[in-house]
Formats: sequence, structure tokens, C-alpha cells
Amino acid sequence: MESKKFFITTAIDYVNQKPHLGTAYEKIGADCMARYMRLRGYDTFFLMGNDEHSTNVEIEAQRQGLAPLDYCSQMSTVFQETWRSLDISYDDFIHTTEERHRTAVRRLFEAIHANGYIYKGRYEGLYCDSCEEFVSEKDLVDGLCPRHKQEPKRIEEENYFFKLSEFEGPLLAHIEKNVDFVRPASRANEIVNVIKGGLEDVSISRFGKSWGIPLPIDDGHVVYVWFDALINYISAIGYGSDSPDRFDRYWPADVHVIGKDITRFHCIIWPAMLMAGGVPLPQSVFAHGFLSLGGEKMSKTLGNILDPRKMAAIFGPDGIRYLLLREVPFDRDGDISGEILIGRYNADLANELGNLFSRTATMITRYCGGELKAGPFGPGWELHDVLAGSLEGYHRHMNRLEFSRALGAYWVVIQRANRFIEEKRPFDLAKDPSKRNELVAVLGELYAVLATTGVVLSPFMPGKMAEMLRHLGADGVGMDRLPVCEAAVRRLQAPKPLFPRIQDSAEELFKD
Ligand SMILES: [Zn+2]
Repeated sequence: MESKKFFITTAIDYVNQKPHLGTAYEKIGADCMARYMRLRGYDTFFLMGNDEHSTNVEIEAQRQGLAPLDYCSQMSTVFQETWRSLDISYDDFIHTTEERHRTAVRRLFEAIHANGYIYKGRYEGLYCDSCEEFVSEKDLVDGLCPRHKQEPKRIEEENYFFKLSEFEGPLLAHIEKNVDFVRPASRANEIVNVIKGGLEDVSISRFGKSWGIPLPIDDGHVVYVWFDALINYISAIGYGSDSPDRFDRYWPADVHVIGKDITRFHCIIWPAMLMAGGVPLPQSVFAHGFLSLGGEKMSKTLGNILDPRKMAAIFGPDGIRYLLLREVPFDRDGDISGEILIGRYNADLANELGNLFSRTATMITRYCGGELKAGPFGPGWELHDVLAGSLEGYHRHMNRLEFSRALGAYWVVIQRANRFIEEKRPFDLAKDPSKRNELVAVLGELYAVLATTGVVLSPFMPGKMAEMLRHLGADGVGMDRLPVCEAAVRRLQAPKPLFPRIQDSAEELFKD
């Protein structure tokens, strides 16, 4: 039987600045989901990329004395090195300057045009260069763009328009029928209100610009950067190409993971573009919240916290992935600080998980010569119910991209297993040869919890969990074999600490 597919994307990033921790947070969340689905046996395709046709990119390239394409290629290296440092496992990385993307943009534009949803008109209005967005009078605060605190330009030009206004009814019907199309639900309500407030046609071209994709019907214009960028989700998998096998296999996307500030583009304009072009809609759009950084006092000494590569160097790629996804619920905003991250690292990873692993592995090595056979793990075992309950909660939350809650639900069994060691005192049982069976049973339960934990936490901490599973002789186990029931360690070595305790203060750790 052919395996089921899972196609997940992140927003593509403007390359006029380096990736920061907020950008990294989105990629880490999407990567966690992609890895989870792979471990469940899904044929998973994970797409990321860079958005290069921005006027700001052209300006930044000029400022550095570079051709725009050379600048984009340098920035692509910076982005991809950052993602590698965080162990992000994307399957493809699209650049909007690539020919495959330009082809797809022209094809979708032609399809929408042929279906009668594009017309030429006169645009008079305001445009914020930094947003790269047309802004309306009512969105301004004291005459300024609220995001950039700068005065938008007044633009008057002949433009091509997309008949977004014709999609109010179809979009509302789609969102009503598909309750998970926009997630979380609070975002869906916002989108419904925007649509009910009335949709206006949108300008989708800029006149007299050279940096961009010329319209197939009028090369005096280039495609507006947002209209261009959204199409990456289908251009990367071969829409409009001569061999659209990947498109046929993976589209529609299962989830577009984006920031909460760009929901209107992804939940209104994008689905309307697809409807107009006769392309099926994605299954869902998930809008994550934003990270904020504690009080102002940290910004002085802890400016480094914004650099994902420095954070990966401090906590390890696995550590920072875990900390961000545990500390900030993916669907909401959350605050972090150096103290919070260090505290969480020491409590959860160095103490609870790290100790459970080193104590259990050390005891199996010492008392059983590194070999253990126990199981099957069934209802007669003391940790059975708590492990089964933790796994149920974990899967339920993972399926909804609720990473923090998934970890919270699973962590119950890790804490329980640590208490189990204190209650059962295997180090005392080992002193009494008549308690041998009890000792093996206790260590067997602990082993089962640990091996299961290694698989369950792999999407969050792929490197460290692979290391732990190798120690336990349980590498390569998929989600379909949980809990790991048959405890069968072969020659376990006493391990080094997986997560060495961090002794430094936040101030010490994050200084330049
Ligand atoms: Zn702006």
C-alpha cells in the first residue's frame, strides 16, 4: 500500500535582513511537525525558501554595491547555514528568482487572467515601502504606517487588479465548511470578520519596476511581490512545469505554517487566487504567535538571544528547539528571557530527562551487565497507565501542532518514572539476590519509558534523542511501535550526561 503523504510549508523569508529567533521559531515548529509525520510513516515533504523580489532587497543590494541576484545568493547561504545549525530538515528550498518559480507564476497568472479575474485599472492610494503593502487610510495611526512609523507614499498608476471582491461568498462558504482551514480558531474568527467587512479588488502589479517577474500579458509591469511570493507553495513542487509529478503527489498542502501577521494573505488572497486559477485549496493554514523578550533590562546584555545561531551554540540545537517549543505555545504569543530558558533547560533537560537516562542506563550497566530482557510491557506494569495516558495526550496535541501541550502531556511519565526510582530503590534491590526478579522488572519498566521517550521527543530533539536511542539499542524505531514494549538492551555503556547542567548566569551566558 502506498504511504499517505504530508506536505508542510513555512512562510518564505525576505532576505533584506538575517534570520532572527522569531523566524527560527516558525521553522523549528514546522520541522518538529515534519519529523513527527515522518516517524509516523507519512511520505512527508517539507518546503522552505526565500522571498527575493522585494524592493527592499533591491535597495539593500544597491547599498552593498551588489547585483540583486548576487546579494540574494549570499543571503541564501546565511539563511541555510542558520537552518542547518538548528537541524531543520527541509526537503526543498525555493528561491523566488528561480526559473521554476517564474514559470509557475506566469502560468497561474495566465490561468486567472483566462478565467476573467484580472483587469486593468487605475490605482490611487497609499503604499508603505517597508511593508511592501498597499495600505488604506483607516489603517494609519497619525498618518503613519503603524508597523514602520513612516509616512506611506501616495501612488497613482495604471495597475492590474485581481477581482478579490468576487470571492467573499466562496471564501466564507469554504471556511464554514472546513473548520480547520484556519487554525487556531481565534484566527478563523478574525478572518471571517474581515471577509464579512467586505473585500476590495487588489492591485497585483507594479509599473516601471525591473526587479520582479514581468506580467505575461504586459511586460511594462512586474507581478506584485506578495502575489509572486504566495505562488512558491506550488512552484516548488512543479505546478505549471512539464513534469508536475510532485505537484500531483503532494498538492494540496496539508498545512501552511505562517506568522499571525500574514493571515490575510494566506487565508483570503491565496485561496482566492487558487479558486480563480482552478487549483484546489490547501487543507489548512496555521498561524503561530510571536516570541517576545522579557523586560528592557535584558536587551542590553542579552541582545545575543535574538541570534538563533548563538542560541544553538549555547543550548545546542536540540536544547534551543526544545526550549522554544516548550516555553511558548505555538498558537499564542509568549515571553522568553535568558533566565527563563536557562531555568527550563536545567529543570527539564539536565535534571528530569538527563537524570532519568543516566540513572537508568547506569543501573542497567552495573546490575545487569548492560544487558536486559524484560517485557512485554502490559497492564500488569506499574508505569503502564501513566505511559499510555502520556502517549495519548502527546499524539492528540501533536496532531494540532500544540507542541508545548504535547510536551506537557508527555512529561508526566518522565516525572513519574523518576519518582518510581525513589519508590522502588533498585540500588537497594540489587544488594539482595532474592530480589533479582523485582530488580529486573523495575529496570525493564524504566527502560521501556526511556526508549519510548527517545522516539517521542525525536521531533523536538533529533540529535540528542538519536544519541540516547543508540545507547538504548533502540534506534530506528517509528511512532507505530510505541510504546517500545520489548525491553532488550544489548551491551549498554554508561553514558556521559546528555544535557550538561548550565551553571552560568544569563548575563554571563549571553554577553557578547
Ligand atoms: Zn509599513
